[in-house]
Amino acid sequence: MDFPEKVSFTITNTCNLRCQMCGQWSKEGYIKKRNRSCRQELKLEDWKRLVDEIAGHKIDFFLIRGGEPFLFPGIIELLEHIHSKGILISVDTNGTVLKKYVKDLVRIGDIHLTISVDGPEEIHDYVRSVKGSFQKIKENIALLRQLEKTVEKILAHQFVLQLVLIPIKDLAKCRTLQKVF
Ligand code: SF4
Repeated sequence: MDFPEKVSFTITNTCNLRCQMCGQWSKEGYIKKRNRSCRQELKLEDWKRLVDEIAGHKIDFFLIRGGEPFLFPGIIELLEHIHSKGILISVDTNGTVLKKYVKDLVRIGDIHLTISVDGPEEIHDYVRSVKGSFQKIKENIALLRQLEKTVEKILAHQFVLQLVLIPIKDLAKCRTLQKVF
C-alpha cells in the first residue's frame, strides 16, 4: 500500500468551547465522559519527530486539528517546522484564540485556516455554548486582515458554515454573514 499523501494530526483534545455537536466535549462526548487517557497529549518534540519521519514520504498536505489546536503549547513552532519541509498546512480552528498568534501566522504565511461559524451571532454562541465566541472570531479575523495588509501577504482562510442546528426561519440571516467576515 502506498503511503498517504495527506496526514491529519489531532494535536490536542483541549478546547475552550463546548459545542453541542462535539464528539469530544458535548454532553455525550468521549472526553466529557471522563476518559482520562483522551486528555494525554504528545509533546511538541514528539510531533516534530513524527513530521520528520512523515516528510520523507513525499507528503503534500498536513491537516492540524484538535480540540482547539491554538491551545496546544508550541503550536507556532510546530507550524514552522512543517512549513520548513515545504508541506502545505491547513488548520481547523474555532477562531476564538487567534489573537495571540496572528502576527506569527502572517509571518509564516502559506497556512490555510478553516474556521467554523454556525450561523448568526446568537445561534453561533448558542451552539458553541460560550457567549462571545462569535465576537471573538470577528475581532480576530479583523486583526488578521489588518496585519495582512501591512505585510501584503494574504493567509488563506475559509469559513465553514454548519447549518445543522439553524432553524429554517433563520436561514436568511446567514446571508448577512458574508458581510460580517
Ligand atoms: S470547537 Fe471543536 S473541539 Fe472545541 S468543543 Fe467545538 S467542536 Fe469540539
